[in-house]
Formats: sequence, structure tokens, C-alpha cells
Amino acid sequence: MGAKRMIVIGLDCAPPRLVFDRYRHAMPNLSALMDTGTWGSLRSSEPPITVPAWTCMLSGRDAGELGLYGFRNRVPHETALRLVDGGDVHVKRVWDWLGEQGFRVAPLFVPLTSPPTPVRGQMVSGFMWPGGDSPWCFPRELESELVDRVGPYRADVESFRAEDLDRIYRDIVTMTKQHFEIAEQVWEAKQPDFMMMVEIGLDRFHHAFWRHIDPEHPRHEEHNPWKHLGPEYYGLLDERIGRLCAAAGEDTAIMVVSDHGARAMRGGFCINEWLIGKGYLSLREPPSTPGPLDHSLIDWQRTTAWAEGGYYARVFLNVAGREPTGAVAPSNVRAVRDELRRELEYARDERGERVPVLVRAPEEYYRQTRGFPPDLMVYFDGLSLRAIGSVGGGRVVVEANDGGPDGCNHDWDGVFVMRGGGAPARGFVEGAEIYDVTPTILGAFGLARPPGILGRDWTL
Ligand SMILES: [Zn+2]
Repeated sequence: MGAKRMIVIGLDCAPPRLVFDRYRHAMPNLSALMDTGTWGSLRSSEPPITVPAWTCMLSGRDAGELGLYGFRNRVPHETALRLVDGGDVHVKRVWDWLGEQGFRVAPLFVPLTSPPTPVRGQMVSGFMWPGGDSPWCFPRELESELVDRVGPYRADVESFRAEDLDRIYRDIVTMTKQHFEIAEQVWEAKQPDFMMMVEIGLDRFHHAFWRHIDPEHPRHEEHNPWKHLGPEYYGLLDERIGRLCAAAGEDTAIMVVSDHGARAMRGGFCINEWLIGKGYLSLREPPSTPGPLDHSLIDWQRTTAWAEGGYYARVFLNVAGREPTGAVAPSNVRAVRDELRRELEYARDERGERVPVLVRAPEEYYRQTRGFPPDLMVYFDGLSLRAIGSVGGGRVVVEANDGGPDGCNHDWDGVFVMRGGGAPARGFVEGAEIYDVTPTILGAFGLARPPGILGRDWTL
């Protein structure tokens, strides 16, 4: 029993509807894994965002325990946010436990592995690598070895929320091919017992092309020159998955997972405009042009709450003693928050139409809330609306993203496919969660689950 070796292929932002259904015909290799293994939807973390989702998956910890609430997190004693990096991960990830048990590991391109850290094997940083002379491999000698083989490292695609779609597609394809080539090289040359790669190209592809490939997108045009790219790019991923599976051999367990799914984005909810309209947020003067909320324009003494936009809204109260110019007395926080929560749950757009809103208080959901959690986490219309932090547009619900052209928002369900590793082939299953991945990987290597981690071992 148990796997001799294992490869995990992470597809960032892979939705079940496309992988298992619409493009399944373009993915014969993945389809074969499904036919002979176990597959289904994989429920993402809260929030369903790349950071923290991959770290939740690979540590068995929720985002509150990790203290990671998005790509950027609040800085104590300020209202600003700062981009996170690998140094913000304070827990072990699955390759650490495997390494401790003597297995050779190779995490490649996993979000929050920049800067790279020592592992019992090799590590290649993911898409948040800052570029330039910053290290991107452990050990560093691996960098020149890989560059000799595949050219300069491409961690990500530049400006993927832009109009030059043909350039974006070329860049995505070049990067994806390079990543799989690195994986093949590491698998062959370093012989890891456990290798995991994450391909960010699919996420970039969806943000750039979703409107053109999804007939259900509200602004889809049937005759557009990019429609065929859906099956083409999914086909490329599948061809590369097939090559890795062939190199892996029969004794190697294969797992394909995603951190979250994707869905059509119909527009955005301008959370700060809404807070202004409701009297929670005051500006000293209206912004001259619509744009990001400038904190120096906020009249903090008359502000109760403000928000950060993104896939979801993080609403912060302006608390005395916590925020630099706090206006809400700590004894009043609970009452103010409950009132704001009720108002959000009955939010309407400027035409008076109700907007479906899901509001969560972090401590009601997470096992712990480390770092600087938002006071409220808010999801709009089942994630078909993005949270928009910009102000000055005068509307609550808008069609466009403030970060540039974008056709998709993240969705709760990603994908899970597994074959081998002593796991029974169950066919289609329901109820798999992102937290199941770590106990399942450890189970495949015959290792006990570390105490305190979440999730189910699907090899049992
Ligand atoms: Zn992602």
C-alpha cells in the first residue's frame, strides 16, 4: 500500500464546469485519470483567493489560523496594507512533513514560496517572485541549471488585465510550456519522491479571456476571435499533464487540484461608495476623478468603517486605539458591527434593487484569527460581483473591474482528481474540500496526519 512517489499538478483557478464538462473532450489525459481514479469538485478556502488558498490546502490550516486574508494584509497601527510573501507563512506545509520523514520533495511555483526556503530537495518560487536578482530556487545552483535548459525564468505574465489579448495569450502559453518543462527536468534529474507544481497560467487565461470563451458571460459576443482559445489552452495543459504522467510511471500517484474555481463576472459592487452613501465613510472632499480610495482624503474622525476591494470586501471599523485616528469606542464595536452587518445584508444598488450579500464575521468562521483580520468579510451576489474599493464613480453596482478589463471572478469550487497512491478509485465523489489535500498526500505516503490539521484523507 501507499505511493512510492507522487506528483501533484495544481491548476490555479480551474472550474469543474469547464474541466469536467465543457472542455473534457479537449483533455483526454485528464479524462483518463478521472475514468480510473477519484474526482469531483474541491471546495476552496474562505476567502477563495490564491493567497491564502494554496497555503490552506498545503498546511491544513484555515486562513484565520494562517493570518492571511488576501494578497495584501493590514499593517498594525496603520490603515495601509502590505503585499505578503513566503516569509508570512509561519506553519509547516506538506513538503516539510514529508521531508522530515526522509522523502525528497520538490515544490515548484507554489504561491508563497518566494523567497525560496530550504527543503529536503528543490524549491522553485511561484508567481510572486519579485524578479531581478532575487533568488527563485533552493538550492540557488538550480537557477543556472534551469536557465541553461529553458531560458530566463517566467514566474508570471505581465499585465494580464489589459487589451492586447494576443500578446497575453502568447505570454501565457510560453510561460506554461516553460513551467512544465522545468517540472519534467526536475522529475528526471532530481528524482523527487514528491513533486508538486502550480500553473498560474490558467488563472491569467481566465481573467483575460473568460468573456470571450463563456457564452453565459453577460457581455459575451458570439463571433469573437478568441473563442477557440478555451479548448486550445485546456488542450495544451492536458498534453503537458499527459507528458508528466508518462514520465511518472505506474507506481506514481497523480493528483490534479485547484485552489478555487472561476465564474463569469457581471460587474462590481462599489463597497466604499455604498459606505459613503450610508454615512459610515466620510471624505473631506469628493475625489476629483474616480479612482482608488485615497486614505489621505478620508475624514477619519467622522468615519466608522471603510473597505478594501478585491474578490470580496474586507470591511474595517475605525476603532479607537487600533486605528491611528479611531472614531469607534472599543465598547461600541460589537453594536456598530452588527448594525453594519444588517445593513449590508439588505444592500441595494442605486436603482433600489436588492443585491444578494453574504457577510461573515471572521471569528465566527475561523478556528483562530491571527494577524489583522477584517471586521467583516463580504461576498456579493454569489461572487458574480467583485468588490470594488474605488470611489468617485457615483454608482454602487458597476459593470467593470477597477483593476482593468477582467471577465471572471473566483468561485468556490475548484477541481480534484486523483489516481494511484493506494487510494481506492471511487469515480465521481462529492464533498471534497481544499483541506483534504494534505491529509490525502500524507496518507498516500503512509504517514499519520499531524495533530490539529483540517481535512479528510481520501486514501482511507
Ligand atoms: Zn488562484
